Amino acid sequence: MFDYIIIGGGSAGCVLANRLSEDERNRVCLLEAGGEANSTFTKTPGMFSVHAFWKKYNWTFSSIKEETYNYKQHYIPRGKGLGGSSLINAMVYIRGHRSDYNAWAEQGNEGWGYDDVLPYFKKSEGNKHIQDDYHGKDGPLIVSNAEGQYPLAEVLAKAAIEAGEKPNGDFNGESLEGVGQFQFTINDGVRCGVKTAFLDPARSRSNLTMITEARVSAIEIEDGRAVGVRYQRQGQTHSLGAEKEVLLSSGSINSPQILMLSGVGPEDELSKHGIKIKHELPGVGKNLQEHPDICVGFTSKKRDGLTIKPAGLAKLASKLYKYYVKKEGWFRASATEGGGFIKSTPEVDVPDIQLHFLPLLFDNHGRNLKALSKDGFTIHVCALRPESRGEITLESDDPMAAPKIKLNLLTDERRHDLKVLINGVKKVREYANSPALSDYVRDEIFPGSAAQTDEEIEQDIYERLGHVYHPVGTCKMGSGDMAVVDDRLRVHGLKGLRVVDASIMPTLNSGNTNAPTIMIAEKAADMILSDNA
Ligand SMILES: Cc1cc2nc3c(=O)[nH]c(=O)nc-3n(C[C@H](O)[C@H](O)[C@H](O)COP(=O)(O)OP(=O)(O)OC[C@H]3O[C@@H](n4cnc5c(N)ncnc54)[C@H](O)[C@@H]3O)c2cc1C
Repeated sequence: MFDYIIIGGGSAGCVLANRLSEDERNRVCLLEAGGEANSTFTKTPGMFSVHAFWKKYNWTFSSIKEETYNYKQHYIPRGKGLGGSSLINAMVYIRGHRSDYNAWAEQGNEGWGYDDVLPYFKKSEGNKHIQDDYHGKDGPLIVSNAEGQYPLAEVLAKAAIEAGEKPNGDFNGESLEGVGQFQFTINDGVRCGVKTAFLDPARSRSNLTMITEARVSAIEIEDGRAVGVRYQRQGQTHSLGAEKEVLLSSGSINSPQILMLSGVGPEDELSKHGIKIKHELPGVGKNLQEHPDICVGFTSKKRDGLTIKPAGLAKLASKLYKYYVKKEGWFRASATEGGGFIKSTPEVDVPDIQLHFLPLLFDNHGRNLKALSKDGFTIHVCALRPESRGEITLESDDPMAAPKIKLNLLTDERRHDLKVLINGVKKVREYANSPALSDYVRDEIFPGSAAQTDEEIEQDIYERLGHVYHPVGTCKMGSGDMAVVDDRLRVHGLKGLRVVDASIMPTLNSGNTNAPTIMIAEKAADMILSDNA
């Protein structure tokens, strides 16, 4: 029997485990489906891309075969193990635009406006380089500047500025707009995920129990109250009781699945799989949002990037040696050191495109090995506030089965998301013609010179469409029929149960989602402690 049971030791779950166990009177249990994750592969920033090919710390989900993209399945990575997706993410530290959070508040979610959430961003943040009113310096999550390991990132920013974009030295400060170098959750060349930042400092507390390789199969609900959980570990089923609350932090893909397996969700979906309904909530699994992304790729006249051709592999090996012997060089950094936030047309008020610069020719989540074997570089163009909505449903009532994921990207009626991407591709082409890139650009490979009209670019986008691993919204916060949690993250209509992770975002923030998820958990911890005081 515990006071609090947290399901999932990811970006949100590790924050909760730390903050709730700060008071030694709280008996806290953290259940994580994956393992301890103490590997050099998760600690070394430059090893980030290895996880795309390796299942150890990655659930490697796939979407269903989606009609819109000629029955293509999207690859959907999610972190598995203590640290969750912060174990395998690209470590870019971004919060989004202030209007993202003000929009949450305007929808009736009290306490979620930008001025309300800024203190929680600052609480978790230990920024080593920027110290002003927008940043925290004493928090456990170490945030640092790009080191300039890949000089191409600065060249690309210069090219974009020459083409008319604004420079920006701090995307998390006064303004989001512009191009430049990102900040990262990296501490002196080592990944600072939530396990390092939040769990390791708390793990010796006697009131915190952590159970790894524990896959929760259902939340026990009695008389409208969550009273515990059932989980599977090493082939055995176990049960634990929660006296105060069960906190579901399994991420945007698994949290709605666990709710549905527990009998909480849309009636038709549950009855289809013979699951007894405990509480009907039609919004569970709906409202899935993801950032659609298209890569614009060029071959380069220079050979200063990453490739997998023999000379490139030899260079990688020497860089790896340098990292492990002297802790220097490429492997200290995320490959996407630079990027920015731009407007697809002058009419939009807030940047609606994020760019990530990569010093390699990247396609199909890095799985296009032919592209990788050429010297080149890539600019990711991602549409920031998509209007398309997907969903999570069940494949079966088997808790060990993956859920069905339908991303449904670019399906909005206004074709808004598609138009943003088309304009983004055209903007990147302007950067490629800037003087700063004249020594670099050899040929445009993606989409390639054959795609000139909007229709041709559109066709290429449908063929090569990707996304940037930011699913949110499947347990939406709000008050309407389709909302799953209220603005204190309590599941509507049930007692003793909250959802605390990226799934509660009503709308996707304008940028990467790790820092916002950590903020959500910081704020949730305060609400949980005050509601149970
Ligand atoms: C490849 C990749 C790159 C990314 N790059 C960036 C980036 O550079 N910057 C950024 O800000 N964001 C990035 N993100 C997104 C960001 O990391 C996530 O949005 C964030 O980590 C989500 O946090 P979460 O707590 O909602 O879920 P997660 O961190 O995914 O945690 C969920 C946890 O629950 C566990 N779990 C699931 N089911 C069960 C179960 N049944 N029982 C027990 N445990 C369970 C999982 O194993 C996992 O540990 C990236 C994500 C990926 C996958």
